[in-house]
Amino acid sequence: MKILVADFIYVSEGYIQKKAIAFDNVIKNIDSLDVLKKMYPKAEIINTPKNSIIYPGFINSHVHLEFSNNKTSLKYGSFVPWLKSVIKNTDMIQKCTTNDMKKASKEMLKSGITSFGAISSNGNDLKTCVDAPQRVVFFNEILGSKEENSETSYELFIKRVENSLKYDSQKFKTAISIHSPYSTHPILIQKAISLAKEKKFILSAHLLESKAEKEWIEEGNGEFYNLYNEFFGIAKPINTKKSFIKAFDDIPTHFIHLTNASSDDIAYIESKKHSVAHCPRSNRLLGCGILDVCKLNIPWTTATDGLSSNWSLNIFDELRAAVMLHANDDLMSLSNKLIQSITNVPAKILDLNCGVIEVGKFADFAIIKLPDCPNVLEEISLWTILHTKQVNQLYIGGNRYV
Ligand SMILES: [Zn+2]
Repeated sequence: MKILVADFIYVSEGYIQKKAIAFDNVIKNIDSLDVLKKMYPKAEIINTPKNSIIYPGFINSHVHLEFSNNKTSLKYGSFVPWLKSVIKNTDMIQKCTTNDMKKASKEMLKSGITSFGAISSNGNDLKTCVDAPQRVVFFNEILGSKEENSETSYELFIKRVENSLKYDSQKFKTAISIHSPYSTHPILIQKAISLAKEKKFILSAHLLESKAEKEWIEEGNGEFYNLYNEFFGIAKPINTKKSFIKAFDDIPTHFIHLTNASSDDIAYIESKKHSVAHCPRSNRLLGCGILDVCKLNIPWTTATDGLSSNWSLNIFDELRAAVMLHANDDLMSLSNKLIQSITNVPAKILDLNCGVIEVGKFADFAIIKLPDCPNVLEEISLWTILHTKQVNQLYIGGNRYV
């Protein structure tokens, strides 16, 4: 048994003081240090520096580790030119080494990320995810727009799913991701959704990220028209917006982006109990706009996306960008929502027994230190976001990694 002591602890009700946490691999008790010492006289006491805050370990719900070696190769600014540059650089995935991906997962770890959702396009990241100290929800991604190739695409996908299932444990969970409405044939979508329902896999899908995607799946025109003709010889969209969203009606799904969803789309998505990942830096860099999170009535997470559309996987860089991009929202309320978007909200969506400091949850903690004493407890979320580059200590399942 260990007892962790800090000036502040972030719990469901907010920030509390003069308490400590007793834990082994899970949280056993939260009380004053004196009480816990009496209850567990042999426990190891771990102190933290002044003005430290214990947070539940942070959760990055959406990242692509296989693109971790992009620095200056891809074209930023607008979605379709970026996508063309990804297609042109497909060897980038092959060239992305286990070392590149390990480095990326370590960067997340240092910023306090103890769990992440990894979108795996071809399984190259499986070993890194299995070996990572973090908890991983491993989203095997399916895509393919040609009907004649769908059988082969599905067979390859199933092999990857079966392969990842071998590693399912308390720290690793197999899941499914459908790439997008413009890239995944309805036959593949139906099969993947049936499988997710049958095996109770968590499901995710990119949706309505760019204006070009919206124009294509709503009207069959715009920039995607030329792209699909040029690269794939396809003249009309394989899914409409309506048919795609409807396919997910009976299975709550973590949609990614929704930056170009209308208020009607959002209302429909809300009625079906879906959620959304907000990736502010990726959306900015690919010219996709801003998801107005403070107006949303659906659960939303904040995620880094991959290094194919970002310059770091540091979750605090992401939160700071969000604070700057949502310039018209109330600063304190936004900061509190942003902390929730990387703790309890993604834990619920990804069905992880963490994300809150509560008896029975995994002992996953990210400890940060403020440079000075906060005047009021209500401002701690903002100070945390503005002043943190790396965590001071980090625990996963009770073991210390930073
Ligand atoms: Zn993505």
